[in-house]
Amino acid sequence: MTKSVNLLKLTPQEFISFLKKENIGRFYFIYDAKNKIVRSSHRQLKPIAEFIQSDKRDFMMHEGIFLQVTRKYDTLQGAFIHRTCRGQAAGGVRYWSYNTVEDYLRDGLRLAVGMTMKNALAGLWWGGGKAVMAVNPGVDKNNQLTRSSIYQEFGELMSSLRGCYVTAEDVGTDVTDMANVFMRTRFITCIPARLGGSGNPSVPTARGVISGMEAALDFIGDGTLEGKTIAVQGMGHVAGPLIQYLFEKNVRKIIACDINTHTVKEVQENCAGKNLEASVVSLDDKSIFQTECDIFSPCATGAILNPHTIPLIKAKIVCGAANNQLEDSERDDKLLYERGIAYVPDFLTNRMGIVNCANEQYGFVNGDSFIEQHLAINWEFSIYRIAKKVLQESRLTKTPPAKVAIRLADELSLQVHPIFGHRGQQIIDSLVADRWHTKTSIE
Ligand code: NAD
Repeated sequence: MTKSVNLLKLTPQEFISFLKKENIGRFYFIYDAKNKIVRSSHRQLKPIAEFIQSDKRDFMMHEGIFLQVTRKYDTLQGAFIHRTCRGQAAGGVRYWSYNTVEDYLRDGLRLAVGMTMKNALAGLWWGGGKAVMAVNPGVDKNNQLTRSSIYQEFGELMSSLRGCYVTAEDVGTDVTDMANVFMRTRFITCIPARLGGSGNPSVPTARGVISGMEAALDFIGDGTLEGKTIAVQGMGHVAGPLIQYLFEKNVRKIIACDINTHTVKEVQENCAGKNLEASVVSLDDKSIFQTECDIFSPCATGAILNPHTIPLIKAKIVCGAANNQLEDSERDDKLLYERGIAYVPDFLTNRMGIVNCANEQYGFVNGDSFIEQHLAINWEFSIYRIAKKVLQESRLTKTPPAKVAIRLADELSLQVHPIFGHRGQQIIDSLVADRWHTKTSIE
């Protein structure tokens, strides 16, 4: 077994012990595009650089990965910067448990690419990146003092990166955590509204899903939402307002489910008198897939579209807010396509979360046109227009829609920012030149 395999198979905590022994606090892996190799900040970490470079699944020539171990609470934190041609990398920070260093790196790499695609397809002048923090099982992550320390150190990491990546909220992170990050950096969005942030993105996200549904209905020649039956999986922050908007659009009926009794009750109360059939289900319940309906809308968790569930679907359209709905992006995209289901890729229709917060430093106006255009019919990058374009091209080229969307997003993501050029890469180069990895606090 080589040393690289050993490092990759370590748990994050074992890896932290290794780093401490080697006296490494901050470290990086950057892509040297000229020589087509991944370079590491430290000789001892070269095996990881080699692993990243040779990986065909998740490594997509990411411009840079910058990591640190927190001084307190031994937490591995990393910013994964995929592509910054369109602007600084933007994407949320995930706080999650990982079994191995490999799992951790793969998640960061994959999620960062996803943000490049989402941002480019939305026509945003932002690149793509994501931050990932590995939960240390030895600390109480629900303790507010512990969390505030961990997130403040993450804020220091953001400041040290000089703005090549701008963070936001993601799974495992809440609005209080964002306020803690904001105490140590300006390179953050999604901060609480009371501190000048854009606030809760769930309502705009729900509106974005409505746009995707309308585009798909038009594409299959089935008119509008009026009179349709919609099945919704999950009844949380996005699905709650989504259900309200659907009733405003005069749908005939909504069939919805959630695993949480309280959530179901709350939505039922808000929809009193409406044709909502809601039920509490177990985590692995599949009945929502088999529901007779026009549109199936996944609004719970990821990986729910797979060879077990796709054959059950009765709907002609799948369009929902949940991230990473396809368990295997190529296989399941193809399966849906072969079944003749019009699938609106999640990263296209659920973009409003990032749209809502990405440009918050430009301030706020009522009925903000920079936000509303994403929900319009006539703007070239609106959800409606891009969804129709993707579905039409899918039909024309006999290619599954997520594949078409990724191709389009990839092209767009290589366009260079009209004012700032490829500044993210310049920042990364400057960090390397200034030996970023030798500095352990804000300087
Ligand atoms: P949420 O946690 O408020 O809602 C998800 C709901 O799904 C919860 O009520 C949960 O109990 C339920 N659920 C989980 N597993 C289920 C299952 N097997 N069957 C039925 N219900 C189940 O989250 P949210 O903010 O509404 O986001 C929903 C999805 O959309 C997530 O995948 C999220 O990543 C994605 N998303 C959200 C936003 C946003 O603005 N909130 C933006 C982009 C993407």
